[in-house]
Order: sequence, then structure tokens, then C-alpha cells
Amino acid sequence: GKAKIIYATDDPDVLISYFKDDATAFNAQKRGQITNKGIVNCKVASHLFQLLEAQGVKTHWLDTPSEREMRVRAVKIIPLEVVVRNLAAGSLCKQTGLALGTVLTPPLVEFYYKNDDLGDPLLTRDRIRVMNIADEAQINELIRLAEKINTILQTFFQRCQITLVDFKLEFGLGQMNGILLADEISPDTCRLWDQAKSDQVDRVLDKDRFRQDLGHVAEAYQEVLQRILGQVSRN
Ligand code: UDP
Repeated sequence: GKAKIIYATDDPDVLISYFKDDATAFNAQKRGQITNKGIVNCKVASHLFQLLEAQGVKTHWLDTPSEREMRVRAVKIIPLEVVVRNLAAGSLCKQTGLALGTVLTPPLVEFYYKNDDLGDPLLTRDRIRVMNIADEAQINELIRLAEKINTILQTFFQRCQITLVDFKLEFGLGQMNGILLADEISPDTCRLWDQAKSDQVDRVLDKDRFRQDLGHVAEAYQEVLQRILGQVSRN
């Protein structure tokens, strides 16, 4: 893929996910590298998957054998980007006119079709059913899981003095068709705002620094990792 390479192992049920420094945005029209992003994202995602597992969320994470590699359960990826939004930002502001930072209560859970050729369009529940991507029960389960994950992550990031604005999840079907959280959760896939900063640009600790050329991209990723590690060691 764009940010990770997936390798097979001797065990058909286990894959290695290798995290690269390559960054893309706007459907790969913008390309670049973020120094040590792969290391940061692998460490951040590993911590968050362990945190979620400890609270009963099933994930594909098995272990983290090196700083850029995660061992994961092989799953059949459901071709949806499940986006959870606590505050309005990004495409939601662009498509609705809602002001940046508008608080969304309850949080919004949205589905986008994972399809680069179609530009990852926003889907409805009915479209997901007619496209045969998931049935009614699976859609309900994805929403339930997304809301549970949001509650756990919001609490965790709050302790890091970071506001979890929005994020994207991907799920897969594992053994016996159980739904597992897959892919990654990292500054590439979340909007994270530093609560210690009031400036709209200074506060950004995520991939928007790359998308919008805000500078200090690698430093922002390191800051997120440091906050998370500080939080973990204090527990
Ligand atoms: N996101 C992602 N991958 C995508 C699209 C979005 O990880 O292909 C994340 C993005 O980082 C943000 C959230 O999903 O945290 C919502 O993104 P949005 O729909 O606002 O799209 P964007 O403004 O990033 O185009």
C-alpha cells in the first residue's frame, strides 16, 4: 500500500505489516516522506491496539517484533473507511459548511467506500447493503465498535492533553467471520489537536501538517508518540 507493505509469513493466518515513511494525501496526488513516520506510527498503533484489546475490542494486532513491523492476524478487509467525528473538520466542513471545530454530540459515524478510482465516496447504509459490502447486522456491529473505540480513545488522548477530533478505522473478517479492527490508528489516520495550544495551526499534531504544508511535520508525529509513551509509563 501507500504507507505500509504487507508481507506473508510461514503461517497463513499471520502477516507482517511494515510501516514506511512514505506519505500521500488527496488520493495520492500529493506525495512525500515524513522522517521516522513509520517508526512513530508502528509504535503509536501498537500501543493503541493493546489499549483497545485490554478493554475488550478484538484487533488484528499480535505483537511488534521491530520498530517498523507489526505481526497481525490475516483478515479479509471490509472495503469501508469507518470515520468517527467528535468535532467538525476536513471533508465534513467542506461538504456541509459546518464551522471547523463545531462539537458533534453525539459523535458522527460515517462510512466511505475504500476505492481510489471512485475517490472514496461517502456511502449510506442502503448503498452498503445494495453493494453487498456488509449486511444490516454487520453495519450495526461496525457502528457499535466504532463508538466503543471512540470512547476509549477519547479518554486516553484526553490524558495526553490531546483532543481527538476525528479518525478513520478499517475492519476485517477473521476466523469464523468475526469482525476485527485492522489497519492502523496513528497521526496518519486521526486528527489530533494539542490542548496546550490555542492557535489553529500550532495545535495540529497530525497528517494535516503534511496535507496543508504547515511545517514541523516529523516533530508533530514525535510529539504524539512522546505524549502517549509518557501516559503509558505513568499508568
Ligand atoms: N482519513 C484517513 N484516510 C483517508 C481519509 C480520511 O485516515 O483516506 C482520516 C483523516 O485523517 C481524518 C478522518 O479520517 O482523521 C476524516 O477525514 P475527512 O473525511 O475529513 O477527509 P480529509 O479531510 O482528510 O480528506
